[in-house]
Amino acid sequence: MNLMEVTEIQATSILTPQKVGSLAGHYDYSLNPYAGCAFRCSYCYVPKFPSKRHDDFRQWGKWVEVKVNAPDLIRKQRAQVFGSSIFFSSATDPYQYLELKYRLTRQCLKELLNYRPAKLTMHTRSHLILQDLELLKQFGDKLSVGVSFTTDDEQIRRDFEPGAPSIARRLQVLRSLKDAGVRTHASLSPLLPCNPERLAALLKPVVNSIWIDSMRNLEINNRKDLLDKHAQFFEPSSYARVQEWLFNEITNRPHTHKSAAKKSNYDVAARLHQTQTTQEQGGKSADENQQLRLLLTNV
Ligand code: SF4
Repeated sequence: MNLMEVTEIQATSILTPQKVGSLAGHYDYSLNPYAGCAFRCSYCYVPKFPSKRHDDFRQWGKWVEVKVNAPDLIRKQRAQVFGSSIFFSSATDPYQYLELKYRLTRQCLKELLNYRPAKLTMHTRSHLILQDLELLKQFGDKLSVGVSFTTDDEQIRRDFEPGAPSIARRLQVLRSLKDAGVRTHASLSPLLPCNPERLAALLKPVVNSIWIDSMRNLEINNRKDLLDKHAQFFEPSSYARVQEWLFNEITNRPHTHKSAAKKSNYDVAARLHQTQTTQEQGGKSADENQQLRLLLTNV
């Protein structure tokens, strides 16, 4: 059984300025109503920034802090909200299951609506977002929603993201959002072992854009055994080929390396059936993976 430590806290601030990092230049603030995350993704980058109370990345996924005064803080910081661009959330999932009890994300959204941000991007792995759909639609064309969609293989999803909702749930989220006229993107971040053709076929009909990233932050990865097991998938050159193929396929761009894509698909399928790789191979590939690039686009 996974025991979770849940603490209610009074935060001092709720809008975090984005001056450095991948959101800088795209967003003014990030907004995280919770600290910590029960979805327990083994590759999560957040433990890279330890807090005084939680400085051991191996405990990631075993604690959540609930910022119970988050809606009050939005009211207090409302001057910053007007006309700003906000990423909700960058360091937690705003629709993890504790949201059913606290409804903090919902309360924050209600406050934000009053103070009219120019851009609001919600980011989640959870179907609970659909419970706020009517509220979200009130943001109109200011809103976009990103759903993390890292593989088409449910066993891979369970291994790497043990506490998070299933692939089927996430697909339903994307479909429902699209049907509701909400702009969506899928975040393949990081891309996990998959069947690229099947993954592309799932996503193409339901997203407006995609974001592909590589497996990074290996020093704080909680499941190095999985990286070793799938070392050949993460081998830099073929990993990059699969990323490029998916990017071109989902965004309807021409395939520059048709044969390479075909080979990648074959290789990936074969790799998923591979049972073991050596520790040494895994370590080498994993380090090199940090060099892989970020692909970000709108279609
Ligand atoms: S859902 Fe996001 S914040 Fe939560 S563990 Fe996974 S990657 Fe980290």
